[in-house]
Amino acid sequence: MLIKSRLFTPGPTPLLPSAQLAMAAADIHHRTADFRALYSRVLADTQTFIGTKNDVVMFASSGTGAMEAAVSNLTSPGDKVLVVTAGKFGERWKSLASAYGCNVEVVSAEYGKTVEPDAVKAKLTPDVRVVYMQATESSTGVRHDVRGIASLLKGTDTLLVVDAITGLGTTHFDVDGWGIDVIIGGSQKAVMIPPGLAYCSVSERAWKRMETTKNPRFYFDLRKERKNAAKGESSYTPAIALIAALASAFDFIRNMGKGDLAAGRVALVNNAEMCAEMMREAALALKLQLFAPDAPSAAVTSILPPAGVDSGRIVKGFRDEFGAVISNGQGEMKGQIFRMAHLGYFDYMDTIATVGALEQVLGVISLPKHVEFGQGLKAAQEVFARVAGSARNAVASSK
Ligand SMILES: *Cc1c(COP(=O)(O)O)cnc(C)c1O
Repeated sequence: MLIKSRLFTPGPTPLLPSAQLAMAAADIHHRTADFRALYSRVLADTQTFIGTKNDVVMFASSGTGAMEAAVSNLTSPGDKVLVVTAGKFGERWKSLASAYGCNVEVVSAEYGKTVEPDAVKAKLTPDVRVVYMQATESSTGVRHDVRGIASLLKGTDTLLVVDAITGLGTTHFDVDGWGIDVIIGGSQKAVMIPPGLAYCSVSERAWKRMETTKNPRFYFDLRKERKNAAKGESSYTPAIALIAALASAFDFIRNMGKGDLAAGRVALVNNAEMCAEMMREAALALKLQLFAPDAPSAAVTSILPPAGVDSGRIVKGFRDEFGAVISNGQGEMKGQIFRMAHLGYFDYMDTIATVGALEQVLGVISLPKHVEFGQGLKAAQEVFARVAGSARNAVASSK
């Protein structure tokens, strides 16, 4: 049988073909007018994609580089910070803030659950300098209540930093309206290009904070990067090919919005929401349990394997039978869950095929209770018919 390799992981995600071509053609030097024009356009598009008027900064690094920048630039040793965590990426905030000598308070929920704003409120004293959180915790598939937590910080001096590395393109945000001071994205997620770029927007309050904070920073110096970005340059050699790819990806997303990038971003989020709902309903119809049923993200769906089965068998089944890479659980969750991504370049066809493959894989493990062929597909089809039907009606009634 012919087998195509496919990624269904929450980063790296499948690559947009036009972006791949743009990368291959990006044979330009970064201290030229051509590059400055490209970079300035990409930075402006990044603002629109994030949905903010705040300045945007970009680094040649994985997403964690921008997370580190949000700690080293915004804190001094001994500063009290509050980390909201319910998974591996929340734990990364804790490690990062500790590495920079912060006095780290934690508000947590167990894996698979979200952290309630009331729990955050209980730990939010006036001396908390920064709150660090995820929009979507990719290790568990949970979505956190960014809006609810942001509203607790209104009128205080506490900054809010959101790792939206899998949140952007899968979640609707009002960055400036809610008061998100720093929001972070990464290239290998919903923007459909390879790993290697981190980007973030930074509020006026946060820029002001940086004038007095004392932690050391050099490569990930936000203020230095902002100054150069204003001239269409980066401080050091930028990831030129990835920036060309990102320009192309934003054009694709703009086309999704019929020429309007902000509308395209909304369409991209709605697409992820639909694919995620198709997957959740399919899993339930196959008598599988969701790991994060109360607050599921549209970025990634975490599913428990049938009782007594190691989730690695399902991951292996996808790889061996279909050449498809899905994710096992991270850390202690290894063997306990499997994860399927919906962020970025995934569509109806991909999602239906994934559900069909899941039915087959469960069949190979031979668990009759979980495999009546077509049950997962039927549930997914019904979600699509409903979502596509209401989209058609909305278009018809607007004419
Ligand atoms: C992918 C991801 C990151 C960044 O990881 P890198 O490997 O540094 O790119 C951070 N947070 C979340 C929620 C992620 O999904």
